[in-house]
Amino acid sequence: MKRATVASQLQRYRRKRNFVKTPEPAGHPGVIRQPPAPLYVIQKHAATRLHYDFRLELGGTLKSWAVPKGPSLDPADKRMAVHVEDHPIDYAGFEGTIPKGQYGAGQVIVWDRGTWEPVGDARAGYRAGKLKFRLHGEKLNGGWTLVRMHGRAGERQEPWLLIKERDDEARPAADYSTVDAEPASVL
Ligand code: MN
Repeated sequence: MKRATVASQLQRYRRKRNFVKTPEPAGHPGVIRQPPAPLYVIQKHAATRLHYDFRLELGGTLKSWAVPKGPSLDPADKRMAVHVEDHPIDYAGFEGTIPKGQYGAGQVIVWDRGTWEPVGDARAGYRAGKLKFRLHGEKLNGGWTLVRMHGRAGERQEPWLLIKERDDEARPAADYSTVDAEPASVL
């Protein structure tokens, strides 16, 4: 992945933030990581409305979705996931408080992290709006799908759905809520 490509993917992220005031990483394109396995992270973000930022490393940045209710282990319990701007890779380790008046003001904790594994071609799936993958996190594991609602890409805030696959890691929502049972940071 070329630095110029990463820089252009991070334009929206950088435009929204004043890095003199927010402790979040500026994401200056530096050495491009070639990790053994791409990163996965969920950040619990107590902004104006609490939400869970679901991020997958793909193509040199963290592709990001804001999930208002957080993930559910119940395959029938599809969770709205609004596609938001790409974040820099080093955002995956960020915990802290974004100051009042800054974009996304509020507390951020790393709710889960690990690696992810695409099922099939990740870039093609992402472009087509159907990304199937396996998570290897501290809280979330097994098969998941992110699927774009409506047919079309390119909206500023595309609605997607985050859906647990039916496997050994799935659990009925009536029995267990992962976000309620394990509210704390993994760091
Ligand atoms: Mn957020």
